[in-house]
Amino acid sequence: MNQPISSITVLNLHIPTPTGSSPIHPVLLRDEDGYTLVDTGMIGQFAELQSALKQLDVTLADIKRVILTHQDIDHIGNLGALLDAIPGLEVWAHAAEIPYLTGAQPLIKFTPERRALLPAPVLDLADQLLMQLPEINISRILADRDILPLQGGTQVIHTPGHTPGHLCLYFGEQQFLLAADELRIVEDQLVGPAPPATPDMPEALRSLNKLTSLNVSKVLCYHGGEYTQDPEKRIAELAANPKA
Ligand SMILES: [Zn+2]
Repeated sequence: MNQPISSITVLNLHIPTPTGSSPIHPVLLRDEDGYTLVDTGMIGQFAELQSALKQLDVTLADIKRVILTHQDIDHIGNLGALLDAIPGLEVWAHAAEIPYLTGAQPLIKFTPERRALLPAPVLDLADQLLMQLPEINISRILADRDILPLQGGTQVIHTPGHTPGHLCLYFGEQQFLLAADELRIVEDQLVGPAPPATPDMPEALRSLNKLTSLNVSKVLCYHGGEYTQDPEKRIAELAANPKA
């Protein structure tokens, strides 16, 4: 670890889309024992992830663990490459995601239709990752309300629906809610999870209620970035009326 960086750093990676590219936001946490990466980016993005880390003067060897908010390929995409590159890297995830993350069950949303959207080289990397999954050791099984020894106490919030073991993380000292895919920003407005990518929408909407008791001054959406316009009020609105 070289120069100091703030303890929570939001990364900006880009997923190519037919009309350009769409940003996604893994997060790097700095704690005394090293760095924790929350989500790893999309399959095929390892070079972009490495260069984002390099810009922060963080080497791969500084990363001690990865927290996976859920199994989707834009979140676990570089897990295999990270495990190959970092001996002893820990992987933390919710119990309900483990059958998927260890290959015992197929990834819920990585269907033939979605595979068909990926270019051949990325598909090859996806298949490599899927083959690696059974070798993955989940070092710590996360549960709702766990307080993790990161950032002075980070709360795990199990928010099922988008996937069975989807997690949000809450950094109380910073009043910072890492919402992963439970919340999005669309046209500058905070909204709930994306229906086409959320197999159990009713459950995902019920999960919003778990976020209403938090003091939140900033929300980070994996898709959409940071939202700071009175997020508590907006989260309460969404929980009461998800179509708001
Ligand atoms: Zn997702």
